[in-house]
This record gives sequence, structure tokens and C-alpha cells, in this order.
Amino acid sequence: MDQGLFISLINPALSAVLSTAFLVLWLVRRERRYVLQFSVSYGLIAFGFVLQGFQMGLGFELSKLVSNVLFFVAVILFIGAVVARQGLRVPYVSLLASSVAGMAVFAWFLLVEPDFVIRVFAVNGALGVMCVAGVLRLRQAVNPAPIDRLLLWLAGLRALDFFLRPAAVALFDPGTVGQVSFTTSAYWLTTSLSVIVSSLAIALTLLTAVAIDIMQELRTESRTDALSGLLNRRGLAEKAKPFFEPARSGGVPLGLVLADLDRFKAVNDTHGHATGDAVIVAFAELLKQAGAGRAAVARTGGEEFAILMPYCDLAAARLLAEGLRAALSGGALDGVKPGLGRITCSFGVTARAGDESFDMLLERADAALLQAKRAGRDRVRVAYLHPEFTTPETFQSPVGRAG
Ligand code: GH3
Ligand code: MG
Ligand code: MG
Repeated sequence: MDQGLFISLINPALSAVLSTAFLVLWLVRRERRYVLQFSVSYGLIAFGFVLQGFQMGLGFELSKLVSNVLFFVAVILFIGAVVARQGLRVPYVSLLASSVAGMAVFAWFLLVEPDFVIRVFAVNGALGVMCVAGVLRLRQAVNPAPIDRLLLWLAGLRALDFFLRPAAVALFDPGTVGQVSFTTSAYWLTTSLSVIVSSLAIALTLLTAVAIDIMQELRTESRTDALSGLLNRRGLAEKAKPFFEPARSGGVPLGLVLADLDRFKAVNDTHGHATGDAVIVAFAELLKQAGAGRAAVARTGGEEFAILMPYCDLAAARLLAEGLRAALSGGALDGVKPGLGRITCSFGVTARAGDESFDMLLERADAALLQAKRAGRDRVRVAYLHPEFTTPETFQSPVGRAG
């Protein structure tokens, strides 16, 4: 097997393997559409290289046209996926415009005035411009992770490669012009080699980035309540942890509000579980807005919620709870379903005293919540001290409905 043929075979094989790897990753987690895009992109590149190397019965002109169209589509999909992965807007207009311009020049100098060197410059120049468009967009990422910075550098190097390599080949190997066998030309050999090296570097970086994405997603999921999107118990405990480390405990004021929807079983029984779920979601949204930016809001059980408020004292926590109670009492959730009736909620409020642990704080707020339930629901009760030191009067909240 000659050197050119060997290299011609490596690229489609490598691209096919990468296409399969991304396809498998996508099958594991189908929400990530860009992973499928990587797979399709590498698949098209594999086909493109097969056509470049072997024509597959299409004849010279047609195989060149089709393979280059495949490369352009692959690069659009690829850059689109890299950019979309970071939540940025894909510069489709520049990508498409460069592709069409590159293909038009390519087709002209293939069919009308055959010129190998101009074709090489047309295709590489267009691909280089597309890489630059991608790099410029990726630079807009806010706070990119190290792996994203690496991708940016690799994309920049790829752009340089597209611009400089054809020039270098034209300069150092003028014999390329009018070459007999394309697959043995210096241009084709350097293209194949640089594609192998950069494909591998970019693909390994991307595979790592996708793996990191998936791990982060799993981590977030394990701390999030699927129905409401709030933190779950584990997520809340994690958010609370730094505030209970010895160095900070006692130092930072910390308010805690526990909320439990009133007579929720009846809501399910009368209106169905789906309506119950909708109420939970709507209430969670209300809590999210109330705690926005200053609190960790969690769904700790079926219709039970917790709001941990760092840097907030008891008065602030009580105010928040009372605001929520009043909103519900005023019909904040009436719109969830016609005929739902008034949804109310009971609240237990407390704030950290001294070196209390998070569990002690929870226990105390829970005792206050129980008091609110016992007093008739739809009210706020405040626990000022640890239960051991609490008299019934300490639960009497001056704010809220009279119980
Ligand atoms: P109370 O005022 O004493 O809190 O009465 P309650 O009916 O709200 O209290 P209880 O704890 O007896 O019942 C809670 C109900 O919440 C039981 C269950 O039907 C409902 N529930 C728990 N999780 C979910 C959920 O995810 N979705 C729906 N729709 N209902 C849930
Ligand atoms: Mg409950
Ligand atoms: Mg309840």
C-alpha cells in the first residue's frame, strides 16, 4: 500500500470512529443535540474523505464537488455544535456565506477554468474564515471553563492551518501545480496529516468536554427536584454546609423558613394529582421569586419547602414568610386551575442562635411550623430559641393571622 493511499484510508476510518463515539454519547443522553451534531459532522467528513480518495464511481469532477459540499456541511454542523454547546448564538449567516462563496469559486475552477491551486485556496480560505467566525463567537463566552479555552485555541490553530498550509505548499512544492496523482501530492499528504492530528486533538478535547458536561449535569440533577426545579434536600444541605463550618458558624446571620401547603391531600383528592403537581410548581415559582438572589429555596418533601436565608435575621425571614402567606391568602395560586379554591400555606420561621447545627435549626423551624398547623393553618409562627428554651408564648407571632 503506498503512503498516500494509507493516509487516505486513515482519515475516513478515524472520522468514522469519532462519529460512532459521539453517536454513542448522544444515545446515552439525547437531550444534548449538539453531541449528535458532532457525530453527523464526523460521519460526513468520513464520507468526504472516502470520495476524495476513491471517487466511488462518481468520476473526478462530481466526486470533488460532492466531497467538498460534505466538508462544508460538516464544518457548519461542527462549528454550530461547538458554539451551541456553550449556549451562544451560532453565526449561521457567516458560515453559510463563506461556504457558498468557497464552493462557487471551487466549482468555477473545477469545471470552467480548471486550476488546482485556486481550488485549494478557495476551499481552505472559506474553511479558515468559518473557523474565525466560530472563534469570534466563542470568545463571547462568559467565564469559559479551561476546557472551553482549550477548544478556542484549537479552533484558532485550525483556522491558521487552513490559511497557512496551502500557502506553504504552494511555496515549497510548486510541483503541486499540474500534479498527476492527487493522492500523492504534497498538498494532499499534508492535508491528510494535519487533519489527522488536529481531528484527534479537537475530538479528544470535545469528548472530554462532553463528558465533563454530562458529569456536571448529573451532579446538578442529583441536587435538584425534578418537578419544581428547586433544590432538593441534598442540594439544600450542600448550600447550607459552608455556613455551618466552624470558622463561620455563629458569625453569619441565618434565617430559615419552612413551608407546608395546607390540606394538600384534599387538593389531590378533589382535583387530581396533576392539579396538585401544578400547584406545587406554581408555589415553587412564587418561592423562587421571593428568595431570588438572597436565599436557597428547596422542596424538601411532597408539599414541603425550605428557604434558607444567609445574611438575614429573624425579622427578615419572618417578613418573607408573612409576605408569602399574604400572597397565597390573597389568591396568588387561584389561577392554577378554575374552581381550585383558595390554596393556603403554613410557615415556621427561625434564625440561627450561636453555634447551632443545621439540623437544630431545621428542628426548631419544624416545631414552629407544627404550631402554625395546630393553631389552624394559614399562618406564620416564629421560634426564637431552641425548643428546650421555648415556652408556648415564644411561638406567638405578632405578625400574621390571629390564631
Ligand atoms: P396539612 O395541612 O396538615 O399539611 O395537610 P396535608 O393534607 O397537606 O398533609 P399531609 O402531609 O397529610 O399530606 C400531604 C399530601 O401531599 C399527601 C400527598 O397526597 C400529597 N403529595 C405529596 N407529594 C406530592 C406530589 O409530588 N404531587 C402531588 N400532587 N401531591 C403530593
Ligand atoms: Mg406535609
Ligand atoms: Mg401539608
